[in-house]
Amino acid sequence: MNSEFIKILLVEDNPADADLLQEILEESEESQWSLVHVELFKDALHLLKESQFDVVLLDLSLPDKQGLMTVAQTHEAVPDLPIVVLTGFTDKVTGIEALRQGAQDYLIKGKIDSELLLRAIRHGIERVQTLKRLRHSEEQLQRLNEELECRVTEQTEELRQKNQYLQREITQRQRLEEELRNALTKEKELSELKSNIISVVSHEYRTPLATILSSAELLEHYGHKWSQNKRQRHFQRIQNTVHHMTQLISDVLLINKAEAGKLNFKPVPLDLVTFCQELIEELQLTAKTKHQIDFQNLGVCHAVCMDEKLLRQFLTNLLSNAIKYSPGGGKIQFDLIFASDAVTFRIKDSGIGIPQKDQDQLFDAFYRSSNVGTISGTGLGLAIVKKCVERHNGKIRVESEVNVGTTFTVIIPLKNQDVEEKGREGEGERFLLEVIKQI
Ligand code: ATP
Ligand code: MG
Repeated sequence: MNSEFIKILLVEDNPADADLLQEILEESEESQWSLVHVELFKDALHLLKESQFDVVLLDLSLPDKQGLMTVAQTHEAVPDLPIVVLTGFTDKVTGIEALRQGAQDYLIKGKIDSELLLRAIRHGIERVQTLKRLRHSEEQLQRLNEELECRVTEQTEELRQKNQYLQREITQRQRLEEELRNALTKEKELSELKSNIISVVSHEYRTPLATILSSAELLEHYGHKWSQNKRQRHFQRIQNTVHHMTQLISDVLLINKAEAGKLNFKPVPLDLVTFCQELIEELQLTAKTKHQIDFQNLGVCHAVCMDEKLLRQFLTNLLSNAIKYSPGGGKIQFDLIFASDAVTFRIKDSGIGIPQKDQDQLFDAFYRSSNVGTISGTGLGLAIVKKCVERHNGKIRVESEVNVGTTFTVIIPLKNQDVEEKGREGEGERFLLEVIKQI
């Protein structure tokens, strides 16, 4: 709206009333105005669409439109145009109702003076302007709200992604830390093992070296005086001692390899019964033992894939322990038990037994139980057994009572190559234990 100049559309079919209003307006000296007068509603609508007005003075009883519909339709056609309704003296109620339909004010014909008219016009214009500003502010507010919501959504998403990234970082770091910790523990274990090896080997080597040295010196100085038999005994002692030292070195190398996870594993189909029988014969020959080894094959024998070297290692160690720790001789029971998904080796002696307190550490390298007395050994045999059994995904168990005897049970699952099969490993073991109990 131009504040100096007010453009008025007067819609009034009564010429007298129209003239009167024009006169009233002319009386006013405060504002500048122009007035366009039409008598019909349709002309008014037409004009309102064609050109711009600041206010419309609208009579409610026109020849082509009467009553409140006049207000409603004008408001609909030009929503932001202030409407001042002109009503008859008897029609005050209609005036009030017109306000609800969108008019800004109403004037009662016959009671209009210039001040009242101009005030109504100005108020109407002012109110529409205020409404417009208000609507504009609301729209702005709405837009800001939407932008804000959008930004909040974006930032929430960004935060979520950062959070996810951080979570991944944390998990990865934790995994790395865990790996590092494991590697350090492994490293520590290996270095402990190595220093153990050095101290045991240096200690274990002193005695046999002294034996070799003394036999060699005796042979050098007195050999020519000795009988052939006596000389042979000393040569034999030297050979046995060298053999013992070689064995010790191979055991140490094997444990070292196993600890570093480099134990070779080449399973091949084996006839276990023949294998065990031949091994017993070899042992009895080399150990010249007075012990009797009773071998039994229980269950239905079938082809089994195992690493021959590792199998030989663990059976030899278990059988020679059974012999060594039964100083009084006696019977050693060696059972081979077949099941569909596992094979069990059970070696039972009636020797010195193992105290309960030592049983948990038996498989640690260099550990020897407290009751060995003068029986020699380095404590490597069972550590080697455990590594060989584990390489086959097997398990080893010991049951022992001091001065009664010891039983070692090794269970090797036959279908253990993949994880799914590992799940059934326990099943096979339970089944086997049931079988063993019943035998
Ligand atoms: P080596 O390295 O020469 O085999 P070792 O026999 O002392 O030495 P392991 O075979 O590892 O070592 O056995 C560890 C310990 O377990 C033995 O020192 C012994 O105390 C105990 N042990 C093993 N087998 C038996 C057994 N059948 N009866 C009694 N004690 C045993
Ligand atoms: Mg041993």
